[in-house]
Amino acid sequence: MTKVLIIGAGHAGGSAAAFLRQYGHEGPIVLAGEEPAAPYQRPPLSKAWLKGEAGLEDLLLRPESFYGEQNIELRTGVTATAIDREAKTVTFADGTVESYDALILATGSTARRLTIPGADRPDLLELRTLAHAEALKAALGPGRRLAIVGGGYVGLEAAASARALGADAVVIERTDRVLARVASKTLSDFFTAYHRKHGVEILTSAEVTGFEDDGVRLAGGRLVEADAVLVGVGALACDALARAAGLSCDNGVVVDESARTSDPAIYAIGDMTHRPIPVHDGRMHRLESVPNALEQARQAAAAIVGRAAPTPEVPWFWSDQYDLKLQIAGLPDGADRQVVRGDVEAASFAVFHLAGDRIVCVEAVNAPAEFMGGRLLIGKKAAVDPERLVDPAVPMKAVTA
Ligand code: FAD
Repeated sequence: MTKVLIIGAGHAGGSAAAFLRQYGHEGPIVLAGEEPAAPYQRPPLSKAWLKGEAGLEDLLLRPESFYGEQNIELRTGVTATAIDREAKTVTFADGTVESYDALILATGSTARRLTIPGADRPDLLELRTLAHAEALKAALGPGRRLAIVGGGYVGLEAAASARALGADAVVIERTDRVLARVASKTLSDFFTAYHRKHGVEILTSAEVTGFEDDGVRLAGGRLVEADAVLVGVGALACDALARAAGLSCDNGVVVDESARTSDPAIYAIGDMTHRPIPVHDGRMHRLESVPNALEQARQAAAAIVGRAAPTPEVPWFWSDQYDLKLQIAGLPDGADRQVVRGDVEAASFAVFHLAGDRIVCVEAVNAPAEFMGGRLLIGKKAAVDPERLVDPAVPMKAVTA
């Protein structure tokens, strides 16, 4: 019977183990991860959990009893250190060795570190794991001031949660707008204004030159005073194991549409992969999202049990800040223009990215119908009539050309 070994017990790895059983895999499954907890969801770490609205049991992907019931051997607190592809074994830091017939790598991504003076201070915070989130939560409260380096989703969500806990927050962004790498200017401007309205200070085009006892030093000399500093400047694929084993890597482990690596016995899923996106003409991307982790977990599990490959999905993502629900579907590369539907001032709108007469990406703020409709049209590659698209009186199902 095929033994499946999964390295990394996060969202992708934990889901792959469950899908394998759901799809009828009867052989042994070993799910090994270096964190002490059973697989859990990270999105609430910057949102509901951080604000105290969700507990640990709400974070868990599945109850701890699930793994025993499903005959999945869950090994927590173990770090894989080497893959021997000839012998089909993985060695762990504690000296143990685990064999496999099929190996799934699901080691996720890790916070990018800055290389400026003070960047190695032990009191700097990051936010990838529950342990990081616990340290951040302990630093927040009324009268406390949090400086956040990096205006990405995690940084902005942390700022909103800090405000909900009564703390002051300042976001320091190197480029000229927050979310510059991942969203349209319309969205950046909207979120900047919304955060400012909620008392968050946002500094753009602000280069951090060092971390000091009292806060963050900027180019030009200004000291941004803070009681705690969170650094959220992006994440890097955890592909060191794969690279050392000689698997093809390029900004993550390169996989195909079945999540297979350059070694047919090894799959890779989740944040650590550089993968083709079929609905975007097979272009390669490294995505960091829960839907991506789930889709690739299904792909790998289906390939291992010999089941038909799941239907390719339109990539999507969400972010919650204050009373805003942002939902994004598709990818903006290749777009030649953007149009807005709805009312930005009223915090209910969608930005559509068009390539010719096709929608390739939708960014929807408190606009679930636009998100759902846009996602469907991206998947169908349907031609739309831009004039109808921007008219909120025309239902999304009637915007095609
Ligand atoms: P992870 O969930 O990170 O799991 C990887 C696991 O592998 C980790 O437990 C790690 O310790 C372990 N590991 C690494 N190396 C080894 C090794 N050598 N041996 C053993 N174990 C190892 N996505 C959304 O779609 N929406 C959101 O709103 C959203 N919010 C987020 C908020 C935060 C604060 C964070 C951190 C992420 C958020 N994400 C969100 C992203 C989402 O959580 C990730 O895309 C998802 O967790 C990826 O799953 P993964 O299994 O690839 O990686």
